[in-house]
Amino acid sequence: MTDETFIEGPLYEKRKKVYPQSVHGRFRRIKWTILCITLGVYYLLPFVRWHRGPGLPDQAVLVDFPHRRFYFFFIELWPQEVYYFTGLLIIAAMTLFLMNAVAGRLWCGYLCPQTVWTDLFYAVERWAEGDRRERMLSDKRGWTFTHVRQAALKHFLWIMIAWWTGGAWVLYFDDAPTLVRDLATFQAPFIAYLWIGILTATTYMFAGHAREQVCIYMCPWPRIQAALTDEWALNVTYRRDRGEPRLSVKKAEQARAHGEIAGDCVDCHQCINVCPTGVDIRDGVQLGCIQCGLCIDACDTIMREIGRPTGLIAYDTDINVQRRREGKPAIYRLVRPRTLIYVAIIAIVGSIMVYTLATRSTMSVNVLHDRNPLFVQLADGGIRNSYTVHILNKGAERSFAVDLAGLPGATLRIIGTDPQPDGRLIVKADQDQTRELRMLVEVDAAHLPKEDTQIEIEVTDIATGKAASARDHFVPADHR
Ligand code: SF4
Ligand code: SF4
Repeated sequence: MTDETFIEGPLYEKRKKVYPQSVHGRFRRIKWTILCITLGVYYLLPFVRWHRGPGLPDQAVLVDFPHRRFYFFFIELWPQEVYYFTGLLIIAAMTLFLMNAVAGRLWCGYLCPQTVWTDLFYAVERWAEGDRRERMLSDKRGWTFTHVRQAALKHFLWIMIAWWTGGAWVLYFDDAPTLVRDLATFQAPFIAYLWIGILTATTYMFAGHAREQVCIYMCPWPRIQAALTDEWALNVTYRRDRGEPRLSVKKAEQARAHGEIAGDCVDCHQCINVCPTGVDIRDGVQLGCIQCGLCIDACDTIMREIGRPTGLIAYDTDINVQRRREGKPAIYRLVRPRTLIYVAIIAIVGSIMVYTLATRSTMSVNVLHDRNPLFVQLADGGIRNSYTVHILNKGAERSFAVDLAGLPGATLRIIGTDPQPDGRLIVKADQDQTRELRMLVEVDAAHLPKEDTQIEIEVTDIATGKAASARDHFVPADHR
């Protein structure tokens, strides 16, 4: 490295404390509404009941680890159906890409848990310690009695919210009313207290202390979305063509009176003061901007006060910034190949998931051939192969007939199950259970195939006639 390329100075920028000011307006109202809905859903959903029948949990959304099930209202997923989560992840990713293509970091500004909880923690801070000016003055004065009292109240409320956030999380993994009672009487499992502790600490740290640092330094999405966006995406934009040159209200009026150019920006810094990440949007789109739109509300308020048109800061596209510079009218294009592709993928994956969910069977069967030994020679010269069969019953208790196909002359036996008078083998499977069977297939010497032969095990619900099957092989001795 040469002297010319060596840059002296700190590797990390010192954190500048952000004191976001309260703001009123359209985007603030939208954010409050989303905050209430998302937090309301998160905290209350575990208490919503959904009757599924006797013996099954009645919690609408439940991750049932002991029984290896996931319940979501009328949907019940087994571990074998984990591919539905793959579909959900694809849809979630494409929705994120679509939001980005339509209006930049909509997720970051309105829906991301970090944004939502930080917004709530800021609201508590403002309530306990006052708005931006009071908080800055308090910090300047140091630890006076009032400051200590206010800070103690704020941290107490933050910890209460964080604790309830962790508490709500564990309620998704057990019957919520029962777990609440067990937690209160210290009879809940240790793991529940551990998770509540972890989530209380992380919520308190991330939403209360790390705040904008998470968005700027820890989260990978701003970097990824920057590579995915294009010039047609709506982003919170300072309309430089309208705002510059910046002048005070008085100087701008004087300049206009003399026929000189004056921008609409009066350099009041309100857009910076309300910003939760401390960004000056007038410097252009930047990584720290989560696109929450609060600077739009702040600037619109100023514009109304000074009698200028609102929209100096607005959701706008790079194309329109360029077109206005060239004196052309603005154009918007929400429907373009990029957005159409995302919508198409969401529609296709969603349709496949809905179709497979609507038509999925409430039963299935798996067969596993014994590895050691692969076959057993019988005294009469015949051959026996052994298998483990799993019948998955995703419904009420019922009986299944088990049949073998593909191997003429073979005899099927199930250990512990006697054949019915008509020779059929009938087994019972309890509600929502997997029934494991040991199955023997025997072929006498006269019917032995010369090579490995594919067989099919078919299980039939004897009440409805619905069937499921699985394939494996019969291995004859003389083939080895
Ligand atoms: S709020 Fe509007 S007028 Fe004030 S500094 Fe920001 S852009 Fe300029
Ligand atoms: S610059 Fe504006 S849109 Fe970006 S984070 Fe700050 S207030 Fe939100």
